[in-house]
Amino acid sequence: DIRVRYAPSPTGYLHIGNARTALFNWLFARHYNGTFVIRIEDTDASRNVADGEKSQLENLKWLGLDWDESPANPGEYGPYRQSERNADGMYQPFIDDLLERGLAYKSYKTSEELEAERAAQKAAKQAPHYVYEYAGLSKEEREAKYAEFEAQGLKPVIRFRVPEDKTYEWDDIVKGPIKIGAKEVGGDWVIQKADGMPTYNFAVVVDDHLMKISHVLRGDDHVSNTPKQMMIYEALGWEAPKFGHMALIINAATGKKLSKRDNDVLQFVEQYRELGYQPEAMDNFIGLLGWSPKGEDEIFSLEQFKQMFDETRLTKANAKFDQKKLEWINNQWMRRDKDRVMPQLIQELVKAGFVTEDEAKEKKDWLAQVIEVAGVDGISYTRQIVDLVREPFFQLGDINQEMLDYLTSDDGRKVYAAWNKAYRALPDDATAEDYMAAIRKIQNDLEIKGRNLWNPIRIATTHQIQGPNLPEMLVLLNKQTVLVTMDAVAA
Ligand code: GLU
Repeated sequence: DIRVRYAPSPTGYLHIGNARTALFNWLFARHYNGTFVIRIEDTDASRNVADGEKSQLENLKWLGLDWDESPANPGEYGPYRQSERNADGMYQPFIDDLLERGLAYKSYKTSEELEAERAAQKAAKQAPHYVYEYAGLSKEEREAKYAEFEAQGLKPVIRFRVPEDKTYEWDDIVKGPIKIGAKEVGGDWVIQKADGMPTYNFAVVVDDHLMKISHVLRGDDHVSNTPKQMMIYEALGWEAPKFGHMALIINAATGKKLSKRDNDVLQFVEQYRELGYQPEAMDNFIGLLGWSPKGEDEIFSLEQFKQMFDETRLTKANAKFDQKKLEWINNQWMRRDKDRVMPQLIQELVKAGFVTEDEAKEKKDWLAQVIEVAGVDGISYTRQIVDLVREPFFQLGDINQEMLDYLTSDDGRKVYAAWNKAYRALPDDATAEDYMAAIRKIQNDLEIKGRNLWNPIRIATTHQIQGPNLPEMLVLLNKQTVLVTMDAVAA
C-alpha cells in the first residue's frame, strides 16, 4: 500500500517549497490510489506560530489538495500532531529501549561545555563533532555518572550513539544511489531534548514507521538528515521507507538557493493568493518545479498532473524559481476561464474603492466591458486590473505639459474645437462606429491626421496620451463626466 505524508512544521505561512512537497506527495498518492496523510510536526514549541497549522492547511485546500488522514480527520494511526503523540507517550518506549540497549545515553554536558568543545575543535582545525563523554566506561559506571549529575541538579538530553564506522546508502527516488558515512553527521546527536520532547530526526522515524508510511518525498535540504533517520530504523529493527529528495529550488535571478531572505521574489502561497493569482496557475507552476513532463506543453491542470505523474520524471537538476514564468502561467489561466475570473476582477475594483458592492452588481456589464477594453488579456494577476482601469474610468489623471502642448498647438486647437462640437452632438448611446465616423469627419474636414488628430481628442476626453482603442473607450465613458473634463481642458 502506498502511504505518503506531508509533514509541515507550523512555523509560518505555506512556503512555495513546502507547497511543492505537499503537491508531489498528493500526486504520488492520487496517481497510485494511495493514501495521503497530513502530520503536524510541532515539537519545537519555540518555533510554532499561532494559526500556523490552520493557515498551512487552508492554503493547501485553496490549491485544490485534499487528504485522507489529518488531525481533523484522523485515520487509524493518530494522533496526527507530534505534540499530542508525545503527550500520549508514543516516543518514550523507544527512547527507553535504546537507552536500555546502550544505543543511546543520557548526556549532561552544559552549553558552556559544548561551546568549549567546539572552540577547541575549531582551534585544532577539526570538523565540529560531538565527543562521547563516557568512553571506556561500563554500563554500571555510566549509570553511576548519571546519578552524580542528577545530584547536581542537571537535566539530561538523550543522545544516539552513532556507529561511526558505518555507511548509510539508499536508492533515492529522485537522485539515485546516495552513500553517506556515519561520521558525516557530526557525532552523537540528540534524540530527546531536556524538556522531554523528541527531536525531529527521531520523531519522524517513529511516526513514519507507526503510520506505515511507504514513501518519503521531501525537499533536498533533508538529504543530510536521512542517514540519521536510517540509524534509528536500523537500531529499532524497522524497515525504512523509500526516500526521494526533490531538486533544490534556486532563485532564477541570483542562481543561488532560494532563501526566505530573498526579497526579490514572493515565496509564500498566501502572497500570491492575495494578489489574485489563480490556484490552478500556482499548481501548474509548482508542479513543474523539479518535475518535467514529456513533450513541450507547459500548461497543465492538477487533474492532468495526476494522470501523468511519474516519479521517474522528477528531475535531479536544480529547479529554477522564476516569478516571470509564474506570471505568464497565471495570465494563461486567467484567459482560459474569463467567466470565473471576471467576478474576481470586479471584486478588486470594489476593494480599491472604485465602486461599492451595490454598484458592482448594478453596473456588472459595464464593468466587464471596461475591464475588457482596458486590456485584461495583458495582466498577470487580478490585482493589476486596478491600475489598468483607474484612468480614465474612475480617476482622471492630471494634464501634463506634453499633453498641453498637443492641445495648444495650431492643429490641436482646431481639432479640439471641432471635436468639442461633434462630441456634444452625439447621442448618449452612440456606438464605437459613431465615434469613429465623427473622428474621420474631423480628419477629412481639417485635413489633420495621425497623432495631431488623435492625441488632442484622446487627451481632452481621457487625460491620457496613450490608451486602449479610443472609440471603444468613449462608449464606456460617462458622457457627463467627459463633457466636464473637456471644459476643464479648454479653460
Ligand atoms: N517537518 C519537516 C519539515 O517541515 C518535514 C520533513 C520531512 O518530510 O521529513 O521540513
